Amino acid sequence: MEKLEKFNPDQLKIVNNSVAMAEELVSNSYKMSEAQWLHRRYDVKTLADLCPDETTDGPFAQIVRYKGQLKDTSLSSSTYDFYKICLQDHSILAALKQSHDMELFPFILYIVVHELIHIVRFSKFIQNFDASREEKIAEEKRVHEKTREILSFVKVAGLTDVLTFYNKWRMTFDGLQNG
Ligand SMILES: [Zn+2]
Repeated sequence: MEKLEKFNPDQLKIVNNSVAMAEELVSNSYKMSEAQWLHRRYDVKTLADLCPDETTDGPFAQIVRYKGQLKDTSLSSSTYDFYKICLQDHSILAALKQSHDMELFPFILYIVVHELIHIVRFSKFIQNFDASREEKIAEEKRVHEKTREILSFVKVAGLTDVLTFYNKWRMTFDGLQNG
């Protein structure tokens, strides 16, 4: 694969801060306590930590589902779903270059809030990961609406520009894949 552009160290710092804020916003919105939150059930990774299968062109992120196994047991019923949010640095950076009024922090905030809502809904069995195409499209619309609702209470520089960007956005936003 051609060499894809990755976040530089300064950008990675911004991404980390934005991810931390996204986690707080989503857990608060679903009134999940620290103990109820999805610790060790998901991870957010950037291109530097993705294998070729987890990299995709077009979407800004994709969720790859893995089966985890609890330690000290070999029973298959003790497996759990683990979700890896795979941020696609190259697509995010390309969108930022095209839309000069957008900034990295609020853009990542939207993307990660959106992906975390998906994962909360999967983990609460509100939505099935392996849904039909029609269901996935309907779910996508619901998740965008919920993202907007959560972010409507947030004061972050540049967020309005990101919301305007998504009003016009008609391309695939993210993908779901089994690992
Ligand atoms: Zn989505």
